[in-house]
Amino acid sequence: MSLRKGIGMTSERTRRRLTERLEEAGISSPRVLDAILSVPRHLFVDEALSHRAYEDTALPIGHNQTISQPYIVALMTQFLLEVAPKRVLEVGTGSGYQTAILAFLNLRVFTVERVAGLAERARGRLKQLGVRGVRFHHADGSIGWTSEEPFDGVIVTAGAREIPSALKEQLAIGGRMVIPVGNTDNQALTLVDRDQNGWHETIKENVRFVPLMPGLEI
Ligand code: SAH
Repeated sequence: MSLRKGIGMTSERTRRRLTERLEEAGISSPRVLDAILSVPRHLFVDEALSHRAYEDTALPIGHNQTISQPYIVALMTQFLLEVAPKRVLEVGTGSGYQTAILAFLNLRVFTVERVAGLAERARGRLKQLGVRGVRFHHADGSIGWTSEEPFDGVIVTAGAREIPSALKEQLAIGGRMVIPVGNTDNQALTLVDRDQNGWHETIKENVRFVPLMPGLEI
């Protein structure tokens, strides 16, 4: 996928510095690094914060939510790509940044957000950027997206106390879910791989996400 021209002329060098940093931190997938380099993160935060968009840090996006740290976005994306998914369910659209990264990688993305204001803003941004292959849904993503299952990949960008069983069920055989699991302060990034025999969990590093919440916020 190519992004609409004219956007992203700014901070080419700053962006490159970020990808170099991610590479040093262990991100090895050239496709992921290229996506991080290509998607203009400064357009996913408020203008007042855009000068910090290429720091490797989470930033506020309103509604008490954050755009995830680039390293974590890259890491989760890298884990997903290992199973070569085509259709991916994202729970927690937020700013739409992770969504745009997945779409840039030519994945078909089904993204769910419980906060209406965030979902609308993300939809507008992606449209403006000319990003295709994304379907948006304002809903509680912990119950998945029944009419579109199964998914080869599921990525949850909010911390879950437990792995939602609906998301496990909506995972295709051969598919993988990447999900932070734990309490509000600390979660373990967890991979759930599904094969004919069932689901297998692998725990990766500790992360800190805003919590996965029940219900809708209008
Ligand atoms: N990937 C986003 C991260 C946003 S933070 C980004 O890079 O910007 C996590 C998001 O998950 C928040 O927007 C929050 O509103 C959303 N969220 C929390 N619980 C949810 C649920 N049950 N269903 C859908 N979205 C949820």
